[in-house]
Amino acid sequence: MPGFELFSDLERKEVNDVLENGVLMRYGFDGMRNGHWKARELEKELESQLQVKHAQLVSSGTAAVSVALASAGIGSGDEVIMPTFTFVASFEAIMMLGAIPVLVDIDDTLTLDPEKVKEAITSKTKAIMPVHMCGSMANLDALQSICKANNLVLIEDSSQATGATYKGKPLGSIGDLGCLSLDFVKIITAGEGGAVLTNNEKFYRHADHYSDHGHDHVGNDRGAESHPFLGYNFRISELHAAVGLAQLRRLNEFVAKQKIHYTIIKEALSQIPEVKFRTVPEGGVESYSFLNFFLPDLEFARKVSKSFKDNSIDACFHYYDNSWHYIREWQHLKDLKSLYPISKEVKNGLAYLQTKTFEQSDKYIARNISCLIKMSWTEEEVINRANKMAQIIKTIN
Ligand SMILES: *Cc1c(COP(=O)(O)O)cnc(C)c1O
Repeated sequence: MPGFELFSDLERKEVNDVLENGVLMRYGFDGMRNGHWKARELEKELESQLQVKHAQLVSSGTAAVSVALASAGIGSGDEVIMPTFTFVASFEAIMMLGAIPVLVDIDDTLTLDPEKVKEAITSKTKAIMPVHMCGSMANLDALQSICKANNLVLIEDSSQATGATYKGKPLGSIGDLGCLSLDFVKIITAGEGGAVLTNNEKFYRHADHYSDHGHDHVGNDRGAESHPFLGYNFRISELHAAVGLAQLRRLNEFVAKQKIHYTIIKEALSQIPEVKFRTVPEGGVESYSFLNFFLPDLEFARKVSKSFKDNSIDACFHYYDNSWHYIREWQHLKDLKSLYPISKEVKNGLAYLQTKTFEQSDKYIARNISCLIKMSWTEEEVINRANKMAQIIKTIN
């Protein structure tokens, strides 16, 4: 990860196809486009590769989450359960609809703890949104049965785990809705972009219309379309879809490359008794985009993180002190620093963040180091890196 490490003639060819006839819009202009429908083509290929009936491309992964929630009818005052460890996009996408993010502890999978999810359900809860962080996944069987028992929608955010599977099924295809990001740093990139995946016809129709101003996409003459409901513009462009199309065709190659590099580093670190690896739920196969491990305590992890940096081991993260991915440093959310007024309902709904502590999440994130696996490393570079990492951890006590 990320896909941009290996840009090639394949991406260039798809982009040139679009530029040659000049139609950068994904809908309409049928006569001008010489049969090029890159967004449509990418949706078809996402459907077949990720084994889902419908894929709707949108402008970002954050938009994908908002569109997915809106498609399921979730909005003002509704509660959505999400993990404490994710990217800020998760609560942004929920709050954009006037809904309330309910943050819940993670366990040693580094994703939602199903037991803590059960405790967080109220009469306002409408959805559970596990985020498959750093290439692995949540316990989807457990979350799915909680959703069934409580009549809740299951929305998977697999932005960081495209290419991973759970019990033989691609992540993103298992919940009622799945979301992907195709932003610049993801395993397959379109520059910017995202996708909503679903097997539900109604949710798909909602996502299709809602992400394009509520247009119903009936007929060829765009001006004649009607609007069954209100929408916004979360469209992807043909240029972005063209890059994404070439990248999706290389997803298996990318995952295979990551697996080789991941395995070399994991084997080197397995020799160290202080290192423990994250739990991957039974039946899960990672996308190998990150290697995550736990050290004995916070101080140990901070020392390792610093020493990695001092010794040019790049792209390893200690998320405990990081303001992008973990609740501890999301001060702008806790203080509700909004440019515009926020409803009383949402303010009240988020008041718990003033006092609530997340000791269980702290326990895991404090000790966790997460290392990005690059595809562009040579085998020699990976072996050197693995040995250097092991050496550094061994010298810290
Ligand atoms: C990247 C990411 C997103 C948001 O994607 P954008 O395309 O950058 O908007 C959402 N969730 C997770 C877990 C991500 O890593």
